[in-house]
Amino acid sequence: MTVFEKIKADNYEQIIFCNDTKVGLKAIIAIHNSALGPATGGCRMWDYKNESEALTDVLRLSKGMTYKASISNLPLGGGKSIIIGDSASKTPQMLKRFGEFVETLKGHYITAKDVGIDSSDLKTIKSKTSHILGIAGETNSSGDPSPVTAWGVYNGILASAEHAFGAKSLKNIRVALQGLGAVNYHLLKYLHQDGAIVTGSDINQEAIKRAQAEFGISIVSPDEIYDVDAEIFSPGALGAIINEQTIPRLKCKVIAGAANNQLATEKDGDVLLKKGIFYAPDYAINAGGLINIYHEREGYNRDKAYAHVAKIYDTIKLVLERSKAEKCSTNIVANKIAEDRVSEAELARA
Ligand code: NAD
Repeated sequence: MTVFEKIKADNYEQIIFCNDTKVGLKAIIAIHNSALGPATGGCRMWDYKNESEALTDVLRLSKGMTYKASISNLPLGGGKSIIIGDSASKTPQMLKRFGEFVETLKGHYITAKDVGIDSSDLKTIKSKTSHILGIAGETNSSGDPSPVTAWGVYNGILASAEHAFGAKSLKNIRVALQGLGAVNYHLLKYLHQDGAIVTGSDINQEAIKRAQAEFGISIVSPDEIYDVDAEIFSPGALGAIINEQTIPRLKCKVIAGAANNQLATEKDGDVLLKKGIFYAPDYAINAGGLINIYHEREGYNRDKAYAHVAKIYDTIKLVLERSKAEKCSTNIVANKIAEDRVSEAELARA
């Protein structure tokens, strides 16, 4: 496939290839869609095997941001950028040059943090562009995204539990929690407060010890988590864990968790629908970080941001109700809602 064939297939607006041989910068900025607002998404630095892999990644990630912003009803479009190279090889000159490229887009693309780029890198990039969000430690900073992501996931779980079995609270609801890392540690606080009965798994003994010591949860091995007898399965570690091997093992009525790209294929959503398992689409339930960072544009106020993130409850409810009415899998329903909002904005823009 040529580059144009690739970007035409999913109707990408603009792809910017950034090169500065002197400072060793090779970067790509992808603007998938900006009908709803400025294309927003983090910058990832990764040692890609080749340029084709890098392009594929930035295209996939920027399109994902369009859907995440749209399903969350944010006035933001979808964008993402990547710097090609081992993150250990980054230099201030390279990051500043990247900032200059972002600045040339005059706010049409807003950058932030992703894998391989930390807050101190963002500060360096910011010396050359004001179109940047999520710098920890600054006065207007929205802070660590993990707690607020957990808050959004918790609200999505509440909506799912109410829809699936009429639960008004999570008291005595059994939850199988995959991963006990940054997001799920905070999610555990909410589950614990509500009196949910949690069984967790992780591959990291420190994460297990912390969860056991603070919340007294039961632990099973990473593979056994799929067999746990629980009303809710909450994936918060890996992608593609809902697949033809794991679905037959699941005993839950709800899948709702923080992990990205939970379904191995879109068709797995249909299998879940037929099995009567309610799946809260990943990019809708884990959008707390994006909603939170968006509030930096308005002057960050934590209470306002958290109240906004709590609306993930409404988003998940809408998706589940439409899925039931249309007998269509929740992942496809979420895509349709996101695409319709973008199409309406495109019409208005035209
Ligand atoms: P994290 O790295 O802090 O936590 C992930 C945990 O999963 C780690 O403790 C790790 O040891 C564990 N793990 C790895 N393999 C496992 C396995 N086979 N079985 C069980 N546990 C395993 O990451 P995080 O920031 O908590 O993110 C969790 C998920 O949520 C990721 O998929 C991430 O992409 C997604 N997400 C995170 C945020 C955020 O704000 N951090 C936002 C949106 C989505």
